Amino acid sequence: MNKVVPLSKEQLESIARRFPTPFYLYDEKAIRANARAIKAAFACFPGFFEHFAVKALPNPAILQLLREEGFGADCSSLTELLLAEKAGITGEAIMFTSNETPSAEYRKAAALGAVINLDDITHIEFLEKTLTKLPPLLSFRYNPGGKKLGNSIIGNPLEAKYGLTYEQLFDAYTLARQKGVRRFGLHTMVASNELQIDYHIETAKLLFETAAEIKKRLGITLEFINLGGGLGIPYKANEQAVDYEMLASGIQRYYNSILVPAGLGSLQIRAEWGRIITGPYGYLVSRALHKKEIYRKYIGLDACMADLMRPALYGAYHHITIAGKEHEEPREIYDVAGSLCENNDKFAIQRHLPAIHTGEEDGDLIIIHDAGAHGRAMGFNYNGKLRAGELLLRENGEIRQIRRRETPEDYFATLM
Ligand SMILES: *Cc1c(COP(=O)(O)O)cnc(C)c1O
Repeated sequence: MNKVVPLSKEQLESIARRFPTPFYLYDEKAIRANARAIKAAFACFPGFFEHFAVKALPNPAILQLLREEGFGADCSSLTELLLAEKAGITGEAIMFTSNETPSAEYRKAAALGAVINLDDITHIEFLEKTLTKLPPLLSFRYNPGGKKLGNSIIGNPLEAKYGLTYEQLFDAYTLARQKGVRRFGLHTMVASNELQIDYHIETAKLLFETAAEIKKRLGITLEFINLGGGLGIPYKANEQAVDYEMLASGIQRYYNSILVPAGLGSLQIRAEWGRIITGPYGYLVSRALHKKEIYRKYIGLDACMADLMRPALYGAYHHITIAGKEHEEPREIYDVAGSLCENNDKFAIQRHLPAIHTGEEDGDLIIIHDAGAHGRAMGFNYNGKLRAGELLLRENGEIRQIRRRETPEDYFATLM
């Protein structure tokens, strides 16, 4: 698959005159189309509901357009709750999946009417003390330990700090029920950026079997199962995107064979996907400033890992195209670098690319693909770097600035 940005070089240059590079650009039309495809595929589950993981793209303009598509929010901090609230997402459309949580954050979640998803059995009493009375609905995060292999980004569940063990789950539901809770959910999150749909289907199966056992042992009929996040996207051009229909029908087979016979046929399926919702529809647009030839050839950009740290953090691959040179032969081999005083500040290492023209005024526009999730959000200010702003390409072709670029004043704002 050839990755392309939905704008020509001329259009991008005209945007760059108004909003100097680097900037993030998100494609509203593509995000909406993707949301609709997910909803259509999962319509086989009555009441299916997606809580978009706010951490993936924490901008209220994006949360609001996803709300318009029928999605809610998955939050795990006070600020994320405030972002959801600002976007008009409240009540049970918010799932509060946090860990090591301070009481003030639980109070805000409860005030918004969010579904609180507890990370440990001891948090039942912590929450009761915090709120004086437990909310009527509670969910628990399950850590399947040795029952499930994790994947490379999230790691082995036996070593993961999250969630309750299998046996603790039963004690937790029992205790919460004793304390007056009447409605219950179950959650897990065991993978990150996982493209294999069988992995996700098997996770659903594990949750369904657990729900059936909870019903059998405790007589508790869970209201929903939250499949968590973790659906992968094809960062590499030769990778295959998740087929939503196949994923939904795989999960549906186990729904019918495990939940329905257990008397759980009205259980709601929820998810809190982040990456797959916006990842492929965001671009980091930057200009090639400098070229140097030493032991390797380097292209220096006006963006750096403070804007997008995935390549430096995980060695992650992000596809790169050059505006106007989409069809040129990749005749050069470059390391594409940012300006941080860290040698791992490289967006690409030994990448085959067309010859790149550099210069502050007329250098090529470098497009870094699949930056719409866990991109700007992971940015930081090391080296006094100021993070890029965010632009939304509207369905009518207009550009809306949804976050301005940082200024030195922002950097100094917290200093006393
Ligand atoms: C990160 C995270 C998500 C979203 O993960 P994606 O890989 O972006 O789908 C959902 N839930 C929890 C608890 C998370 O930590």
